[in-house]
Parts: sequence; structure tokens; C-alpha cells
Amino acid sequence: MIPITVVDVRDAEPLVTEVLRSGVIAQGPMVKRFEDTFASIAGVDHAVAVNSGTTALVAAIEVLDLQPGDEVVTSPFTFVATLNAILEAGATARFADITLDDFCVDPDAVSAAVGPRTKVLMPVHLYGQMADMSRLVPLAERHGLAMVEDAAQSVGATYDGHPAGSYGVGCFSLYATKNITTAEGGVITTSDAQLADRLRVLRNQGMRARYQYVVAGHNYRLTDLHAAVGIPQLEKLDEITSRRQRNAEALSKGLNDIPGLTVPEPRPGRTHVWHQYTVLIDGPATRNGVGRDALSAALTEREIGNGIYYPRVVFDYDCYRDHPRVISSDVPVASAVAAQALSLPVHQHLSGSDVDSVVSAVREVLGA
Ligand SMILES: *Cc1c(COP(=O)(O)O)cnc(C)c1O
Repeated sequence: MIPITVVDVRDAEPLVTEVLRSGVIAQGPMVKRFEDTFASIAGVDHAVAVNSGTTALVAAIEVLDLQPGDEVVTSPFTFVATLNAILEAGATARFADITLDDFCVDPDAVSAAVGPRTKVLMPVHLYGQMADMSRLVPLAERHGLAMVEDAAQSVGATYDGHPAGSYGVGCFSLYATKNITTAEGGVITTSDAQLADRLRVLRNQGMRARYQYVVAGHNYRLTDLHAAVGIPQLEKLDEITSRRQRNAEALSKGLNDIPGLTVPEPRPGRTHVWHQYTVLIDGPATRNGVGRDALSAALTEREIGNGIYYPRVVFDYDCYRDHPRVISSDVPVASAVAAQALSLPVHQHLSGSDVDSVVSAVREVLGA
């Protein structure tokens, strides 16, 4: 079996043991060390560690002091946490379609979606590649929108040399399947000292000092045990990323000539960190008419891990259909991609022969 994700955190044993022996197991010096390392990776002055990527997003929206009815414009092609965080923070979600080039929000669609109540632009840097920031940043500035990046999948990615999370407020996930993991966890990045301070207070029950409550807060704290799991990975991030890049390159080399299959191509000026390697399958156009779902099932049968991220646009579920704060819209590109996208193993633990096996299995099933 070649799995779509492998979690290997054995190198964290010494640090985790250190935490266990210290007796300081909740938020303490290890979290601080994790935050300092993370801030330098994201090219910001402050990183605030929290207990999930979802709570990172909630906190990042909450500190913007939105009013009821204020809107966040985001991508319809994302993990559900993006939408749930907007709702949890009390805001209204509106969606801008994606582009086929990068699977991230289309600046033209964002322009069309922005209205008088729009206060936040939340691009999702999907699969490990950043959205089109050179167009989104001026657009946000023109409309006075706060920029909150859902960078959950994109630690280490860059756009014109600028790291993910350095454009406004960056939100990262440390969930088990992400490129860097602490089992569960998240990080918020910013270079605004005042904002970082408010986020730290919000994370800890709204307490500035012991029993000095200044805002109705949360318990969003990360623990030193979790931070200790993540620190060795942060120190190896370049190696993790380059292995993923090497695997992606080899996959594309092996798959780029198959009719009906489109391989992902990193956009110029952007460093792709390959959280997922996602191809599009146009069933009728493949040589033997095999579509996405049939390819997925056949790969599973051949013990090649694969995943459909994501089978539907995020608001296309009954629980959101009549939600008063979910404004659905026509998103033809996202809907088409949801029907065609299939992710193949690309993680850092794949060997060269694993990659060859993935390539030959795909070619065999598609008759290429
Ligand atoms: C994983 C993920 C999140 C949520 O992170 P959790 O740590 O699971 O809460 C948010 N947005 C996107 C795009 C994600 O992939």
C-alpha cells in the first residue's frame, strides 16, 4: 500500500520526553520556541500558536471587530473549516469562483463579489500554492478589505519571494495530515504587534494578566507537548518541501502526456510546497473513457492511496443551503473542478519506486 499521507514524528521523541520530564506540559517555553521558529519561516514578527487551524481562522476574523452582516469573501473550493470558521466568528460568507490555473480565488470573481458589506478577503492557498496575491492585494486595498490568508495547506510557500502568511494575517493548520504537524494545532502570523497582542489575549480567555479580563475570549491554547512534536519538523521544513517538489516533478514527468488528464503546473513566481498533487480527469477524453471516480476506485484496488479534495463546492450541502449567513453563488469553475480533481501521493516519505508505481498504475487504468 502506498498511502496518500504518512505521519512520522519519531524524531520528536527527545523533545517530547524533555517536556514530559519538565512537568510544564501545557502552554510554556516549547510553544514560544515553536512560535519564534514559525515566525521566521513566515517572514513575520509574530506567530501565535493555537489549538487548530480552524480556531486560527476564527480568532483572525474575531479581532477584526466585524458587525453583524459583514461579509468575508472566500473560495468555494476548500476544506469546510474555512466556511465553518467564518460562521463561528459571526460573519457572513460570500464566494468568488476559482481559476483553473491555481485552484485559488479568481481576482476578477473577487472583484465582482465585493459589495458594501464586504470587510475581509480570505484567499485559500490551496494544495500548497498561493493565490494570485499580486492582483488580490491591490484589490483588497482598493476596497478597504482586511486580508486573512487561509494558509492551512501552504506552510513555506512563497509568492514573488513573499512567504504565505506574510501578507496580512496568516492562518496555518498543524493537523496530522498537513505538511508540518503537531497532531492538532494551528498558527496565526502577523507583523502587527498590536494585533498579535490581541490574538494572544483572545487565545487565553481574554486575560491580559491573571484574572484581568479585557475581552470575552476563548481557550485556544496549544500545549508544549504538541509544540515539541512540531519543532523538529520546522527545522527540516526545507528538506520536507524539496522532497515533495521532487516527487511532484517526477509525477508530472510520468503523467503529462496522457489524454484527458491535466497535471498541475506551478504558476511562475510561486513556490509550490505540494500539500497535495492534484490532477484533473476528463472522463470522456481519456483513451478508455475512465472518469475520476473510476480511476480513484481502481487505484485504491491497486493499493495506491488517493483522495478527492474536494468532491463538492463547500456550500453545496443541506446544512448550508438555507443558512442565513451563507450566500451561495454560481461557481462554474469550482463545480467543474470538484467533479474532476483527484489527488495522488506526493508526500516526503515516498521513494522513487513508489512514485514509479503511482505513475504506472494511473497509466494502466487510463489505458495510456
Ligand atoms: C486543514 C484546513 C483547515 C483547518 O485546520 P484544522 O487544523 O483541521 O482545524 C482550514 N482550511 C484549510 C484549507 C485546511 O486544509
